[in-house]
Amino acid sequence: LEAQSSNLINGLCRQRNGLLSDVFEPESFQEQSHTVVRRLVEHLSDSSIKGLDLIDPAVLSKAAKDLMTSERDTIAAFDEKRLSEIVDLYIRTGIQVHSPGYLGRQFSGVIPLGGVVDFVSAVVNQPSSFYEAAQLPNVAERLMADELNQFIGWDPDSFAMVTTSGGSLANLTALLAARNKAFPDFWSHGSPAGSNAGSQAAEGQARPAIAVGADVHYSVSRAAGIIGIGESQIVRLPLNGDQQIRMDQVRPTLEAAEKRGLKVFCLVASAGTTSVGAFDPIGELGELARELNIWLHVDGAHGASLLVSDRLRHRLRGIEKADSLAWDAHKMMFVPAPCTLLFYRDKQDSLGAFRQHASYVFDEEPDPYTALDSGDKNFECTKRPMIMALWVLWAMHGRALFAEKIEQLCELTENLHQLLSGEPDFETVHRPEANILCFRYRPADLRDEDVHGFQVDIRNRIKHRGRFFISKVDIDGVAALRVVVMNHRITPEHFRLLLEEIRLVGSDLPAVAHEARSR
Ligand SMILES: *Cc1c(COP(=O)(O)O)cnc(C)c1O
Repeated sequence: LEAQSSNLINGLCRQRNGLLSDVFEPESFQEQSHTVVRRLVEHLSDSSIKGLDLIDPAVLSKAAKDLMTSERDTIAAFDEKRLSEIVDLYIRTGIQVHSPGYLGRQFSGVIPLGGVVDFVSAVVNQPSSFYEAAQLPNVAERLMADELNQFIGWDPDSFAMVTTSGGSLANLTALLAARNKAFPDFWSHGSPAGSNAGSQAAEGQARPAIAVGADVHYSVSRAAGIIGIGESQIVRLPLNGDQQIRMDQVRPTLEAAEKRGLKVFCLVASAGTTSVGAFDPIGELGELARELNIWLHVDGAHGASLLVSDRLRHRLRGIEKADSLAWDAHKMMFVPAPCTLLFYRDKQDSLGAFRQHASYVFDEEPDPYTALDSGDKNFECTKRPMIMALWVLWAMHGRALFAEKIEQLCELTENLHQLLSGEPDFETVHRPEANILCFRYRPADLRDEDVHGFQVDIRNRIKHRGRFFISKVDIDGVAALRVVVMNHRITPEHFRLLLEEIRLVGSDLPAVAHEARSR
């Protein structure tokens, strides 16, 4: 009887609220998610070679607009066909991270279970900065931090980890913590040399500065700008032929900076540069930083994941000497973006980034329930519980899943490098240390002065043909083609097909044609 009357009441309510309550009905949810999952399964089953289907924004806009309901005054009913078409358009019109044609960027071909967990996160919608609101994510953050710290090697009782929405924000947060430690009054009083922002420092007033490898990610110079470190206060350290910081140049460069009235408080090393995946000599930099009392931040957004592999960990040798480490799990840990982990060697330092008091959210007296809160160490207020996909994958499959995947991709990249060395019309420009490979196409009749423009043209043609998606990067001022091996479908055979594609689009480009004509 009770069930009957509750059904009756529900029925009456539904009639009254109509479509307004329908959108919250679990049955609608089930129907809708089935539609979407079916479509995604089709998508994931497609192993064809796909680049980018680049559509004119006006054309796409029109297509998207046509999918919008024309209903204005009443709530439009759910239309499965419309949802299908929207999802279809969504899937088609961007990079195809699971296709072997996708070789251009660092977004990973995610492990689908990671997406399933993200789906749960999106529905339960727990913001993760405070324990009480998102309890499992906060505990999972601690567990994941402990798991990964085993490979960094810091004291388990005194290190700290926070998650941030991307590596760029992790770099910014670490630089802020470093700045506030070296200049404790900066937060309340501004730059110590604020009154003379010109290039000459007043006597005894060294201007805060950071030192970075010349090929550091652009987010670091942006972060510097945001925290009050001008372009002229960024000291660029020269690189060797492998695009790593030249150790013999660090001390002299820092000394020269000091003579110019700069006080370098933070040194930023890269563990996997974005352009070629080069690893700076972290251990040696760490020793020098320690000696000079400078904070060492390691931007491991791309390459920190190599730490979980016994075979590849040595690329980050000496990481335990760093003060902080940024680690993007949405790159080589294959989870949906963003999921970034920012590690600090010393817990105290993690508190130093944001020294502001907002007592309406931050409890003055921490108790067991607030001890895990990260709101005081994060820039974000509302934040997705981004650790969950990573933790669930780790919980379900363990470290070996990641180690094997990373090893496989790095090994494959080495093989591609070897393959390339046997092709006389291609030029290798570095030894790959991770899963990024840069090279140039240099047919015999290409003039030196045309090499740069030629690579740019090739990259654009490849993109527009839509078969493969690769990127372009400048190395020592000359453009090179760039391949990032980021999913499980890519094989050497696909790479061979890419080289054929490059030769094909290169054959009728003006730079070579011009040479051919003048011969
Ligand atoms: C990708 C990358 C970044 C930026 O990280 P986001 O997560 O894209 O914000 C920073 N540094 C390096 C070395 C990177 O490869």
